[in-house]
Amino acid sequence: MKRLMILWSGGIDSTAILKMYLERTDYVVCAVNLNLQIRGALHRVNKEQESIEILYDKLKEIRDFKLLRPKVEFEHPINMSDVMFIANLANPIAAIGNMTEIILGFVKYDNPKTLAYHDSVLKTLNNISRELYEFHGPVKNWKFAPSYVLPEFYNYKEEYIKELGDLYQYTWSCRVPRNGNPCGHCATCIEIKQATTQN
Ligand SMILES: [Zn+2]
Repeated sequence: MKRLMILWSGGIDSTAILKMYLERTDYVVCAVNLNLQIRGALHRVNKEQESIEILYDKLKEIRDFKLLRPKVEFEHPINMSDVMFIANLANPIAAIGNMTEIILGFVKYDNPKTLAYHDSVLKTLNNISRELYEFHGPVKNWKFAPSYVLPEFYNYKEEYIKELGDLYQYTWSCRVPRNGNPCGHCATCIEIKQATTQN
């Protein structure tokens, strides 16, 4: 039986992917939400955490799955595409839980630049994963280097939104909320606006 870790932010893409894995596969699924307590961005972190709480209860109705929320405190904002950082948090969890694959909540674009970017993020993460395994494996009894992969249900944002149905209202994607509401201007807010007006 496949054992997967899904990196889950509580946003549209990773929530839709998680839902599809729960509905359409019988894999053992562990969702990992990196609860990054970034000083100066706590209003965003708190909104994400609210989404995770509500969505976890709703998604468990599909079937039970494990949720891990490692809490990490940061002094400075980090770039979430910092792949080294992700691997250092995710790899040990995968090793302990015997999870062979780590799913990234990527969204498909027609733009070849983005596809190339996804490809290079995956390659980098897999290189780091092997290096972490070589370094820690023998000492910590890790059995394998987990592979970072695109979801089987890799799709466009419009499709993820459709897939979510009622759950869409509970997701949180805005990077810089204002007074607890989406700002409407950040990159993710604009992406969502485009995806929802095209339909
Ligand atoms: Zn926003």
